Amino acid sequence: MIQPKPNIVHLPVYQPGKPIEEVKRELGLERIVKLASNENPFGCPPAAKAAAMEELANAGLYPDGSAAELRDALAAHLGVDGGQIIFGAGADEVILMIARAYLRPGDETVMARDTFGQYKHNAAVEGAAVVEVPLRDGKHDLQAMLDEVTDKTRVVWICNPNNPTGTIVTHKEVEAFLGRVGEDVLVVLDEAYSEYVMTPDYPDGLSLLRQFPNLVLLRTFSKIYGLASLRIGYGIGHPDVVRAINQVRPPFNTTRVAQKAALAALQDRAFVERCRQLNAEGLQYLAGEFRRLGLPFYPAYGNFIMVDTGRPSADVFAALLRKGYIVRAGHQLGNFPTSIRVTVGSREQNEGFIRALEDVLASLRVNV
Ligand SMILES: *Cc1c(COP(=O)(O)O)cnc(C)c1O
Repeated sequence: MIQPKPNIVHLPVYQPGKPIEEVKRELGLERIVKLASNENPFGCPPAAKAAAMEELANAGLYPDGSAAELRDALAAHLGVDGGQIIFGAGADEVILMIARAYLRPGDETVMARDTFGQYKHNAAVEGAAVVEVPLRDGKHDLQAMLDEVTDKTRVVWICNPNNPTGTIVTHKEVEAFLGRVGEDVLVVLDEAYSEYVMTPDYPDGLSLLRQFPNLVLLRTFSKIYGLASLRIGYGIGHPDVVRAINQVRPPFNTTRVAQKAALAALQDRAFVERCRQLNAEGLQYLAGEFRRLGLPFYPAYGNFIMVDTGRPSADVFAALLRKGYIVRAGHQLGNFPTSIRVTVGSREQNEGFIRALEDVLASLRVNV
């Protein structure tokens, strides 16, 4: 049989959070709460759903590959030029296109060791050498990452808030990093959760873009806008960088339905603000409960939180699953053998999760 490229032979197929339907079937459970994939527990704005339904009437027509209508609205919303935006089938596809446009076999690319898996995956597909830098207290260690930049380094990835730990690096830290890394290194700042972040020292990515032409921001409609299933996200960067990424973009990579839904979602600012507020309340509640239970956790800025249960994460995962709660086990997300990552749900979901977690903790022996 013909063999694929040698550099992809050992790549794992992505293991997603368990689908609700599958868990229901396997465990015979009626009610399942999925807090595993950082989805919006409040769904999407009703106007986005209506726009998507209406656009289905045009399902037989190819989309506008450049997404001009959405591009114009988004450019105005962000205060950037339309030529600075590239859309993807999720930010995931923008990551893929950046790797495709910028990474050759033998190039080096620097990232945190425990971060969003798609950077490493797509770099490996292109045959680039992945240089991984351990987190420090769950945070990107930007100094250590800078120390790993060589004349072979082409792309550096910074996930902010970092998935899976939920931590951030500050505006000052990112600005200092950009000021010192060479202009010939592309720096990707993944801000998939930026709309959730409340702290004032979170980077103002758009102002950094004006200072640093080698910076690309990643954003998405999958998280706070609640459109994960429709697959639409985007990158923002210098027009020359965006042009290069555009050259490897599949011609019809985002659908009509996704574009129309995203446009409507973008316009519902009240929905976004409500989700932000409810998420902040949820984070505060979960943090308070983890403190009460004596469980260490990383300071969380997105819509998820990583908590150390002190028990093997596979056991905690399985026990929570039996109670109808799907989370992500830390051992699958990096070097977190006793942690779980839990998405902030609705108030009722969060309270149910804590009750289930208390039962699970009592039933499992502490790992020593
Ligand atoms: C969810 C997520 C994305 C992208 O999600 P899409 O659905 O592909 O837009 C990108 N980066 C991080 C860190 C994420 O958690």
